[in-house]
This record gives sequence, structure tokens and C-alpha cells, in this order.
Amino acid sequence: MSKNIVILTGAGVSAESGLGTFRDAGGVWTKYDLNDVATPEGFARNPGRVHDFYNARRVNARKARANAAHAALARLEVEHQGQVLIVTQNVDNLHERAGSKAVWHMHGELFRALCAACEARWDAPDQMHLDDECPECRAKATRPDVVWFGEIPYRMDEIYERVLDADLFVSIGTSGSVYPAAGFVEIANGAGAHTMELNLEPSETATAFAESRLGKATEVVPNWVDEVLADTN
Ligand code: NAD
Ligand code: ZN
Repeated sequence: MSKNIVILTGAGVSAESGLGTFRDAGGVWTKYDLNDVATPEGFARNPGRVHDFYNARRVNARKARANAAHAALARLEVEHQGQVLIVTQNVDNLHERAGSKAVWHMHGELFRALCAACEARWDAPDQMHLDDECPECRAKATRPDVVWFGEIPYRMDEIYERVLDADLFVSIGTSGSVYPAAGFVEIANGAGAHTMELNLEPSETATAFAESRLGKATEVVPNWVDEVLADTN
């Protein structure tokens, strides 16, 4: 039976590629206050600090390699008879580098730049600077194309449509602490989908899922993909 699968991913799927999650001891987020580097107010106060932060994350993300969890999800997209959509909260591009095509970045992309004046978007240079000009309007108002706290995530209407349509909703490597993504499971439940969590530890919304598998993404995700492909194809 063909199934329509929607997968929500978070920092945990990239953890074993060496990109720290937001809670990791010593991780990049423990060295910065999120109000300084991940809010529009922080950017208005000190845009240079925000560029430094994302420039460093971009360097790390470029060096990182996709892991077995990313690879398994890419294989699922190719081999599964139904639809597979990845909605990711991650700003890295490891899903794409592993080969996934249907990937929606609800929190934006580290490797894209955005003009705050005219909303043009383009590929970000490795290092973004305060005095960079927008290639379209020439304003010196360029920022990383990432969604900050207090901003509305991308493609929300389309995401809700796809979650409502899902037969299977799977959340992988996300703490369930940031809305609206943390609310997708309830929407999927309400629409009659089977819901499943794959995470190192139970997330904050763990009780909302019908099923849960605990463990490292590089182990639980390939196992789950093998099961889905054996079951439904
Ligand atoms: P998160 O860091 O909040 O959660 C990561 C989850 O992954 C945790 O539940 C953890 O148990 C799990 N995990 C860790 N290693 C794993 C592994 N090897 N295999 C499987 N799971 C593993 O990240 P998130 O849920 O993606 O956060 C959502 C969004 O919230 C992010 O896009 C980010 O913008 C934002 N956020 C920011 C902060 C902050 O700035 N301090 C904190 C939390 C979330
Ligand atoms: Zn512009």
C-alpha cells in the first residue's frame, strides 16, 4: 500500500555529522545568547555579531558530511512508492547533499542570503559582511536567509496542507520545544495519520506520538526506512 509520508527533522539528524544540537554541552548555542544571534532585535543591535555567528556555522556546515540517517531518508524518497516530503528545521543542506529532493526548509537556509530591503534571495558567500550589497537593489541590508525567533517560518500553509494529507507523520531528531513545528504531530493525529517519533530521548511532545523509537539517528532511521520499504512496496 502506498503511503504519503511527511517527515519533520531537527538538529538531532545532523548531530552525528558534527553539527551540534542546540543543547549540546559546548555546542555553538551555549556560547551565544539566542536573543543576540537569532532574533531580529539582536540583528538590529549588532548585525556584525550575527554575521560572525552564521559565518562560523556556515564554515562548519560546509565541512560536515551527510550521515547514514540523511542517506536513508534520501533512499526512502527514491524507493518508496508513495510521496515523501522532508520538512526540516535545519539550516544546513545535508539532506540535499545526501540526495533528497523534496526538502522544505521551514527555518531557512544557511547557504542563502536575503535582502531585508527588497526580499531578493541569492546564494550566500562563505563569509557575509555588513557592507555587502544586495545584487538586486544595492541596499546594504543583507542577512542570512534564516528564520529567527519572532519571525514566521517559511511555507507554513503548504506544510499544513501536506501534514493534513499525510498517512504517516514522522518526527526525527527534534526536541519539540519550538512551535509551530512542535504542533505538527497534533495536526497529523487529528487528521488520522499514524505518528512516530525517532529521537535520542523522548522529546517534549513525546506523549503525542502513537509510536516512538529511541536511539541515535544513524541507527534508528536506516532501520525504520528498511521497515517502511519492506512493508509498503
Ligand atoms: P534541539 O537541539 O532543540 O533538539 C535536538 C533533538 O535531537 C533533541 O531532542 C535530542 O535528544 C536529539 N538528538 C541529539 N542527538 C541525536 C542523535 N544522534 N540522534 C537522534 N536524535 C538526537 O533542535 P531542534 O528540535 O531542531 O530545534 C528546533 C529549532 O529550534 C531549531 O531550528 C532552532 O532554530 C531552534 N532552537 C534554538 C535554540 C537556541 O537557540 N538555543 C534552542 C532550541 C531550538
Ligand atoms: Zn535588495
